Parts: sequence; C-alpha cells; structure tokens
Amino acid sequence: MVDRTQGSNVYLAVGESAVLVDAGFPMDSKRVLRQLRKNDDGCPGLLVLTHYHIDHMGSARVLKDAFGASVAAHEADADVIEGTSPYDRFKVDVLRTLYYRALAPLFRYENVMVETRLSDGDVIDSLGGLEVIHVPGHTAGSIMLFQEKRGHTLLGRHPEARERSPAGAAARVQPGSR
Ligand SMILES: [Zn+2]
Repeated sequence: MVDRTQGSNVYLAVGESAVLVDAGFPMDSKRVLRQLRKNDDGCPGLLVLTHYHIDHMGSARVLKDAFGASVAAHEADADVIEGTSPYDRFKVDVLRTLYYRALAPLFRYENVMVETRLSDGDVIDSLGGLEVIHVPGHTAGSIMLFQEKRGHTLLGRHPEARERSPAGAAARVQPGSR
C-alpha cells in the first residue's frame, strides 16, 4: 500500500507485472509517483480503478501518463471515468455526489481513457489472479478484487458478502498489455 494518501488507499500489487489499484485524489499524485519510482519491482503496467469517484481516480491521468499504464475499470463506470457520461449520473448517494462535484474544480482532475472495460468474473493476471467482483451500489460499476489463490477479498471498498457467479466467459487481463 502506498502510504499517506489523502483519499482512498492506493495499493500496488506486485506480481509478474505490477498492478496499481486506485489512484487517489489529484493532490496525491506527486507522493504516489515518488513512491512508485522508488519501487524496485517495476512500474505499474495496469491501473485498476474500483469506481469513478475522485478519491479513487483523481490521479489516474497523471499516473497513466507517467508510467504508460493502461487503465481498467468496470464497464458501468468507464464512461464517467472517460468523461463521456456526467459524474453525477448515478444518484445513489446525493450528499457524496454534491461533495465531489463541489471539489472537482478545485482538484482539476482529468478524465482518462479506459482501455479495458471489466465485467464481473474477469481475472487480472497479477498475484496469481485477481478476480473482478461487481458490487453495484456505491456506483453502478463499483468492483472489488478477489485473490483466487489465497481465497480472500484483497481490494475494494465494500466488503459485504456476495454470491459469486460461476466462472463463465471471463476475460483475462494482462498487466502491461495495452
Ligand atoms: Zn466513492
């Protein structure tokens, strides 16, 4: 985990290729960049955003540009992250939406292209496989990541129990492939 960010926790999962999960507030960019550059395990090739709120994606553009990483997010949130759907499209939490709308200009967060649109059951090839668990509610495209090998939920905002769907036509996402 990258220390001392203001917003969301920022995780670096180091496997065969490094994967960065969530990007923190825009104000966190420099701190996250500094720590990632000190990291001997390599630069992240993939940046996974667990949902579109500014405390999770605010630094995404800066980090993507710095490392040439591709961005992955759930298909239901991808348009908001790219800026083709309005930030407040999903009115699941009015106070929070207003809060972030008010803050967004201050932080001047930039939209970012989402190269990989994730679906429930997709597996990211890092740390032995991180399965995408779709947990709509906080936003329509909120996700958690489930670590298959160790059998526990590794990352994500909402740890509530959920029926896991059987493996279907799930895609595998390669960190570093653009
Ligand atoms: Zn949020």
